[in-house]
Amino acid sequence: MKHQQNYLFKNWAGNIKRKVPSFYQPETEEEIISIIKGHNKTRLVGTGHSWNKICVSNEALVNLDLYRQVLEINKNAKTIKVQAGIKLSRLNKLLDKEGFALQNLGSIATQSLGGAISTGTHGTGINFQILGSQVLDFTLIKADGEKILIDRVNNEDLFNASIVNLGCLGIISEITWQVTDAFNLHDYTQTVYFDEVIENLEELLEQNDHLKFWWLPPAEKLIVYKYNRTHEKRNDTRLRQFLKDEFSSVLFYRSMVKIAGIYPKFAPKVSQIMTSLFEKPLDRIEKSFRVFNVPEPPIHRETEWAFDAKNAKEILTAYKRHILNSNFNFNFIQEIRFTKSDNFWLSPSYQRDSLWIGFYHYNHENWNEALPFHEAFAKKFDGRPHWGKEFTIDQNYLQEQYERFNEFIKLKKEFDPSGRFENEFIKKIFLAPISI
Ligand SMILES: Cc1cc2nc3c(=O)[nH]c(=O)nc-3n(C[C@H](O)[C@H](O)[C@H](O)COP(=O)(O)OP(=O)(O)OC[C@H]3O[C@@H](n4cnc5c(N)ncnc54)[C@H](O)[C@@H]3O)c2cc1C
Repeated sequence: MKHQQNYLFKNWAGNIKRKVPSFYQPETEEEIISIIKGHNKTRLVGTGHSWNKICVSNEALVNLDLYRQVLEINKNAKTIKVQAGIKLSRLNKLLDKEGFALQNLGSIATQSLGGAISTGTHGTGINFQILGSQVLDFTLIKADGEKILIDRVNNEDLFNASIVNLGCLGIISEITWQVTDAFNLHDYTQTVYFDEVIENLEELLEQNDHLKFWWLPPAEKLIVYKYNRTHEKRNDTRLRQFLKDEFSSVLFYRSMVKIAGIYPKFAPKVSQIMTSLFEKPLDRIEKSFRVFNVPEPPIHRETEWAFDAKNAKEILTAYKRHILNSNFNFNFIQEIRFTKSDNFWLSPSYQRDSLWIGFYHYNHENWNEALPFHEAFAKKFDGRPHWGKEFTIDQNYLQEQYERFNEFIKLKKEFDPSGRFENEFIKKIFLAPISI
């Protein structure tokens, strides 16, 4: 096991930096248990891709980068059992070699499995639930060191309660995923006028497995991504990937947003230029995980909220006004996605098909004003915040949004009576005085 004292924890966006007295990278379950038992407070960090203070620890911080083995692949049942520190990107490659794939993915695959599940990380597709829905079972090491198996069939209620857990029920150790045969996606990406998208939203959702929109305000058009499963062969080329994905989307875009960050007046032009790159639609067939994942974006700030998809047209109409009528200088992608409802107690898609809106800003200067501005919009439409992104904690609001919120608090008390897995962030969410 690796151990560092006075470790400087820094999240991906660099907005959270903290010195931690003890940073551990265990390699076995025994080591994980000994860390829990040896400290009053322990927090987990996957790859630190969360924007908020969810990973902050004042005592012990545990990272499972050295606890990332594949334990079992069952080709008949199409399942894979892994240690929770494995990254989605590594899993994608390993599965691909075996002829399998994950059913759905988010925009990047840098995250650890444990971290992605715990915050309710999602991809897009109105018939596809958040990533944790692909988990069949997992083991959890509780505050007393006991290891329990939580199985979605035999312990359905406990599974639903604990799959989205914000790292406060224990340490997820081993995870069994249901995988699927490897598949290709037909990616048809084009630009469409915002109002036309709203008008045709039902058909777009019905006709496409995975639909998402990027909007670079104040462009009049959205970039519409349509990914559909296909048995046709791949036709994407390495040259196109280099020119469009690596050059245009990474190097060119990064330089453009940097310039727009320095010269805000240039931002609308950048939005228009970037949108126009898709005037000629992208039409390609490629392996699923290569389509789902986009190149890692430049460092920026985010808040993302899940809304009831039933009201998507009304919300998107209001959202367009919200952005265009504001005084903020939008110089970054805004993202719109969809997920199917589920029964996971703390999932933002709990019992409602969801429209997700990601409010993203590159220029951080006005973020402290932009965040409450977006939150006020989101709350007006009963939005539920992404647990791994930024939001102002309002326990009463969260309690209203989550029917099983108080039951989760009871479960948390049962699993972790002395609050070993708590930090300030968790306390603010779950521990202010409430009636249970
Ligand atoms: C560039 C970028 C793109 C992103 N794209 C998407 C996207 O497409 N969709 C989406 O929904 N989100 C997205 N996110 C958010 C991201 O998926 C979540 O914040 C996710 O939790 C990050 O995973 P991580 O491994 O970095 O976890 P961390 O941020 O390190 O940890 C998150 C939480 O998980 C807990 N945790 C970690 N491992 C374990 C474990 N083994 N047991 C128990 N608890 C554990 C931690 O304690 C913490 O509470 C993106 C983030 C970035 C920076």
